[in-house]
Amino acid sequence: MKIAVIGTGYVGLVQGTCLADSGNDVVCVDKVEEKIIGLRQGRIPIYEPGLSELVHRNFKDGRLKFTTSLAEGIADAELIFIAVGTPQGDDGGANLGGVWAVGEEIARHLSADDESKTIVIKSTVPVGTNAELARRMSQLTDVPFHVASNPEFLKEGAAIEDFTKPDRVVIGVRNPEVAEKLHELYAPFLRTDRPFLVMSPESAEMTKYVANCMLAVKISFINEMANLCEAYQADINDVRRGIGHDQRIGFHFLHPGVGYGGSCFPKDVRAMVHMARSKEMPSLMMEAVDLVNEAQKTVLPRKVTEYFGGVEGLKGKTIAVWGLAFKPKTDDIREAPALVLIDAMLAAGASVRAHDPEAMPNVQEIYGDRVTFCERPYDCLNQADALAIVTEWNEFRNPDFEIMHRLLRNPVVFDGRNLYDPERMTEHGFTYYGIGRS
Ligand code: NAD
Repeated sequence: MKIAVIGTGYVGLVQGTCLADSGNDVVCVDKVEEKIIGLRQGRIPIYEPGLSELVHRNFKDGRLKFTTSLAEGIADAELIFIAVGTPQGDDGGANLGGVWAVGEEIARHLSADDESKTIVIKSTVPVGTNAELARRMSQLTDVPFHVASNPEFLKEGAAIEDFTKPDRVVIGVRNPEVAEKLHELYAPFLRTDRPFLVMSPESAEMTKYVANCMLAVKISFINEMANLCEAYQADINDVRRGIGHDQRIGFHFLHPGVGYGGSCFPKDVRAMVHMARSKEMPSLMMEAVDLVNEAQKTVLPRKVTEYFGGVEGLKGKTIAVWGLAFKPKTDDIREAPALVLIDAMLAAGASVRAHDPEAMPNVQEIYGDRVTFCERPYDCLNQADALAIVTEWNEFRNPDFEIMHRLLRNPVVFDGRNLYDPERMTEHGFTYYGIGRS
């Protein structure tokens, strides 16, 4: 099939590349010229395991093309995916400026000679966007077209795996022929009986928000319980085991930590709050989830500050930070909890020495030389007064504790991801603080 993907970010680039890899002719369009030139020269703008190899192969084989021209991108396409960002707007709701701009530009370029094209909204958009996009486009063209919704559920860090082996594909359509075409497109990824779920566009749009809200609920819930465990000298890890074996509860997504970040959960939870308010049905739960999460991001900075006897005590201290990305296996730092920690440390007059396997260039763009970036994790520890672990990259899971102890000026570890066993840390001579552990 001939496909256009508008917006070549985390979602668009993965989608375009995986569809090219299954034999389709794909043109990825982005308005950022630098990104498109870079991609044509083999530079991948994001870190995502396995992506670079797939982009190179499909580009070389001519199935994957990159352009800044939407007109050129959609000229031959039967399916046009919109995968532009839908960031949080000033009122908390999703900013749909990019979606409207792309839809309207597509409408202006539809040609009466074309068979009707299908515009597929892949971006996460509030309920009603599909209908409104169709309305806006119809005002600009008499050429027939379809608008479908196809929310994306991939996880950064495992995006290729998620796209090629989805738990399910959700499609929102008003026309069974469009569902049939999308089924054909996704068939190579559904071979092991993965469900292809067809519903109305409104239900598809809602499904994406409900999925992200549910995951955010789980994270904020376990974080709040972890904080209570700490207050009552219980250990959240034991409590997790105690509840997780109950099949109605399970273990997934119930890991206490430093709060969720990234480009999706924070904005999608707030968009749901906004959607609920727009119908005068406030979502008390999602409002609470957001509040709990914002508070959780301050837990690690607070523990560090208290340890040093308050803000004054941090002045002149050096804090080592392991992990900057909002989660492992990505370089994405949007709403990353590490930034809250760094801000607090710098504001108190401490120095920060940080390491992350992928996200350092992105963080450097924010802080410049106000933070010292270290090529290797142990380099951060040199003469540091404490280590704070923010992201659970694999390489932090089993470090050499003797080296760590030798390098740190003061052997204290604030473990925002509960990577280590508190007793073992004490045996190794560390003062150790986790999340929700007595
Ligand atoms: P992103 O910011 O990484 O990429 C968006 C891209 O769209 C950028 O490259 C931008 O330059 C481009 N763009 C914006 N306006 C454009 C225009 N008018 N014409 C051409 N290109 C344009 O965003 P993302 O993380 O890929 O997310 C895209 C959408 O998918 C969002 O709605 C997001 O909520 C949703 N989503 C993201 C993820 C994820 O893990 N990142 C997962 C599922 C769904």
